[in-house]
Amino acid sequence: MRYHFLAVALILLLPLPALADDEGKLLVECNVQASVKLNGITIGETGETLIELPEGKVTVTVSATGYEDYEEKVTLEAGRLVKLEVTLKRKEGADVPDKPEPEPDKTKKPEPPDRDKELGKVKQRYTKSQRTRKALICKTCKGRTEVYCKYCKGSGKERVLSGRGGMMTIRCRTCTGKGKWPCKKCKATGRDLGKIKILFWDMLDPEYKERMDITANKDSAIDMGIATSKGKKGFKLTLDSKLLTKKFNVVKELEYRLDDKCEYAAVTWECNIKGESWSEGIVLRRMGKVWYWVPDKSPGDVKETSKQENKGTRKQGKKETGK
Ligand SMILES: [Zn+2]
Ligand SMILES: [Zn+2]
Repeated sequence: MRYHFLAVALILLLPLPALADDEGKLLVECNVQASVKLNGITIGETGETLIELPEGKVTVTVSATGYEDYEEKVTLEAGRLVKLEVTLKRKEGADVPDKPEPEPDKTKKPEPPDRDKELGKVKQRYTKSQRTRKALICKTCKGRTEVYCKYCKGSGKERVLSGRGGMMTIRCRTCTGKGKWPCKKCKATGRDLGKIKILFWDMLDPEYKERMDITANKDSAIDMGIATSKGKKGFKLTLDSKLLTKKFNVVKELEYRLDDKCEYAAVTWECNIKGESWSEGIVLRRMGKVWYWVPDKSPGDVKETSKQENKGTRKQGKKETGK
């Protein structure tokens, strides 16, 4: 049994039934903790990436007690993250501290995370990345990996003036008669590489990004399907395009598993290509409300001690029968 940590890359490419594509993402950064409304409906808070939002023109309202509301019209698009930076102004005469108090659970002990709820979020994160796949098709070639020659419109021929003043047909000089050529925009992968990069970067555990010495670990980064390099504007993420053309089928989802602290989650599944099957998986880590992908952890690292005590070695045995 072997695990692939580039599995997230692969799940984006799974053959999936047609799923709703009409969703956008929104992230509002604000000077204070505030609630975010979409067309008057509260959908979350500032500082978190809000997902599965309707496409199209919407009104975003940011509000916090003691501050004046902020309103802006934005256009949400499937697969695109809209970022807003908002500075809320204090209301005249409002009695609020400079920095609003953090959540009012200062007196209370922080509540232990609700395992079922978190497990639900992990599943959502996983299925979400599957669903996003459709939005990742290259718009230039519509996923076909080739584009028609725009001079001959795919015919491979062009009409030119003949020496005698009439017209004659010759082989298209632009495409040398082929009629089409590999899509340059997506490097003939059929996928929107730019969007994929953004998606990956957003999903990556921020601490992982920090601790990863990109230059030193470039090789292992490429092994994971991600090559990162340090540029003027920070890290640049590029993907191994071979990865994007890999196709396989998920046979079944094996497991969703949370560790005891509800800090790490493993998602494992079984897949196959041409009759050969194996198990793959990813590890997600929780930071506050969001689960992030940690590529350098293996699902085997996520231990659920209490469950193992209860079930003894049964679990181990079950896992080994996968192959
Ligand atoms: Zn393309
Ligand atoms: Zn042509």
